[in-house]
This record gives sequence, structure tokens and C-alpha cells, in this order.
Amino acid sequence: MNINHLFKNRYFLPAMQFFSLTAFILLIYGAIGITTQDSDFAMILRNTNFSNLVVWSYWWPLIIVTAILFGRFWCSICPMELVTSLAGKFGLKQKPGGLLKSGWVITMFYAIILILGIHTFAIHRIPQYMAIYMLILFAVSLIVGFIWEKRTFCTYICPIGHLLGLYSLLSFRKLRVKDADVCLNCKTKDCISKSNHYRFTDRSCTSELYPAKIKDNRSCILCGQCHKSCTKDNIAIQKQRFASELFTDIKLSWAEIAFFIMLSGFVVYEIFVEWKVSKKIIMAIPDWANHSLNISGNLTGTIKAIILFVLLPLVFYMILAIINKAIAKESWKKSLTQLAIAILPVTAGMHLLKAFFKTTSRIPYWDFAFSDPKGVKTARMLTINPELLNSDFLSVISPYVGIVAILLTVGSLALSLLIIRKQQYNNKRSKIISIFAVLFYSGIFLIMLSSWRLF
Ligand code: SF4
Ligand code: SF4
Repeated sequence: MNINHLFKNRYFLPAMQFFSLTAFILLIYGAIGITTQDSDFAMILRNTNFSNLVVWSYWWPLIIVTAILFGRFWCSICPMELVTSLAGKFGLKQKPGGLLKSGWVITMFYAIILILGIHTFAIHRIPQYMAIYMLILFAVSLIVGFIWEKRTFCTYICPIGHLLGLYSLLSFRKLRVKDADVCLNCKTKDCISKSNHYRFTDRSCTSELYPAKIKDNRSCILCGQCHKSCTKDNIAIQKQRFASELFTDIKLSWAEIAFFIMLSGFVVYEIFVEWKVSKKIIMAIPDWANHSLNISGNLTGTIKAIILFVLLPLVFYMILAIINKAIAKESWKKSLTQLAIAILPVTAGMHLLKAFFKTTSRIPYWDFAFSDPKGVKTARMLTINPELLNSDFLSVISPYVGIVAILLTVGSLALSLLIIRKQQYNNKRSKIISIFAVLFYSGIFLIMLSSWRLF
């Protein structure tokens, strides 16, 4: 069935949202009360607890994959959108202020989740903490919906907003108007009409967009409401060439640049920890820092995350931006935007690779997922007898994993170079700096992955 028919249907997306809200609640229920203080045990429990397995090894990787290939389709069925929009209908409808509109709240929320949530409290390994995190997301979307107008949570707060927005620049799909002239002559403008803001379906856009003026995929959450509200049937999800939006003049905000700097560091870490040799290399500086500062316990994760996701990436981008300013007289913002846009395909490609590693490596755990959904008994059993985990499937696919990894790295490097070629650079020297950045960034993945999987 054509996706546009589904999006036009009044009940399809709300039904999907109710379904995902039910799944969300059940996943919280399956994780609540399941906890441990033992970090080694947590490494097994994260895969034996059904909720934890689904959320971090399948749900989350699937969100990344769909954003890269098809755009923000996850947002179409996100339960938080449903919760915050319903709350907004009855709430105070305050206008969001400058801080919210700047995008920095999204970047800060993401940093908090990455540094404190994941790397300090291990919300990705301890089911109970994951459940608390999901409840916090739920509560924030509800409270924000009650206080601020429209869909402030989705537009200015959701911690994955920038992530899905930036990756959706690569997507094969876009939501646009079919004929700009129809919009020009449209008297009712139902897609942005104030009177339609708080309808349950056929709503006008509450993400501050005018469909006729959408330039790229970043802000449209594909909620499908304008699809239904447009009485001229002038809106459609359309095909586009992969990554074609990155060939255009994309302007990033400072908050998006900061977000991307962290993201690109995080992805390096995510790939390097897959192999014990590269893990040792990437952990050398954080381990040294923790040792020198005499830090122990959960705080070691905080220091590690700050060094690997904030400080080192910042040094990398700032050195290149300083050179760009010195030899090409390019502004800071333009330099960093050019670097981010050039490197984005490699970051996305490696994020895709991490998703592939995660989903495939967790397949053996499905043998126990339904018989012991809480996962504590299974985790104890696997601690004593790890050989009970049937890894036949992993042995079969093992030779192909390296090939997929190298192809994905080389493919995303080629795409990055193509983007640099197509982008408008004021100066040839800036272009050379972007080429160097991409070669360096993808080079570390290529060296690590080929050393691990091919030699
Ligand atoms: S998208 Fe539809 S409702 Fe909006 S201006 Fe265009 S024709 Fe009018
Ligand atoms: S333009 Fe607005 S209403 Fe239309 S799908 Fe995108 S976010 Fe939803």
C-alpha cells in the first residue's frame, strides 16, 4: 500500500501511536525492579532482560536505521508525541522562550543522557534504570505538554531531535508539497491554521513549519497531520536521491554543531569498544585521567564520557576550524558546519554499523527471552555456564561481518567526499581541510575494522 494512503488515513498513525504507547508501558513494566550492583552481571543481564534487550538492541538501532534511510518515521508513531499533544490540548499553552527555541535544551538533554544516564548510571545495562529513564521521558513530555503550546517537547526538547534530524538529511524520503503554486493560491492554509492546532487528527503543523517552505528534512517529524488537514490534497511523502539534501546549502545552529561534535565522538567509542585491542587504545586517556585523579566507581564513566565525547572531539574540530580561519578566513560557524556536513555520512554509516553489530550479536539471547523475560535466572545461569549461549549463528555470519563493516566504511567515505565536491565552498583551502577531516575520521575506522576483521 502507498505510504501516502496510510498517512492520510485518520486512524492509522494514532493507532500506531497507541500501540507503541502500550509497548512502551509494557517494556517499563518488564524492567522495573530488575537491578544489580555488580557491573559484570549487568553486562549479561542487559541482554537477558526482555525489555532491555528489545529497547537497546532492537528498538533503538531500528530508530537509527529508519532515520538514515527514510527520515523521521519513528516520530510518526512515537508515544511521546501522542502524550505531549494530548496534554497540550488541555494545558497552559505558554509560548516557548529563547532558550528552548535555540535548540540548546535538546543538546544538553542529549549530553545528560549520554554522560550521566548511559556512562555513569548504565541505563543501557540495568533494566531498572532504563525503566526510570523511560518514565522520566514520559513525565517530561507530559509536563512540557501541559505548560507550553503546540508540540514544544518534540520541537525543542526531545533529546534525540537533533540526532534524527541530522540523519534524516540522508534519507530517501521527504515530505513536501506537490505543487507550490497551489499553496500560493490557497486561501484557507489549513496546514498552518491556528484553529486546527489542537485537533486530535487533521491538525495543522505544530512543529512551526509551513509545508510549502520546508527546505530539508530536519524539523519535520512526519506526524502526517498536515497530510490530512490540507484540503487540496497537496502534501505527499516523496522520493529523493539518497543524501541529496546534503548537497544543498545546509545551515546548522550552534546547538546542532555542538550536538554533532559529541555524536561523532560517541560513534568512534561505540565502534572501538567492539574489539578488545581498540577498546584498550580508546580507553587509554580516560583510564589515565581516572587513575591520575584517583577516581573510582560510577564517576569513572562520567570522566570517560566527558573526555571521549566532549573534550577530544572538541580538540579535533577546533584545530581544523582554527586552521580554516587562519588560512581560508572562514568564520567559525561556517567552518564547523562544513566539517559536520562532510563528516556526517561517516558518522551515520558507523552508527548503522553499530546497529548491525548490536542486533546480530544479541540473536543468541532470544533462546531465553520468552521463557525468562525478567532475565535474572538466565543471567545467573549464563554467568556459570556461558557456553549455554548458542553462538552457531554468529559463527556462520562472522566472515561476512568484516566485509559489511569495510563496505559500509568505504561507502560512507565515498559519500562524504562526494558531498564535499558538491557543496559550495568559498575557498579551495576549506575544501582541502574538509577532505583531510573526512579521510582522518574514516581512516581511524578503516584501520581499526580491517585490523580486527580482516587480518
Ligand atoms: S499545504 Fe495544503 S493547506 Fe497548506 S497552504 Fe498548501 S494547499 Fe493550502
Ligand atoms: S510538516 Fe508539520 S504537520 Fe506536516 S508532517 Fe511535518 S511535522 Fe507533521
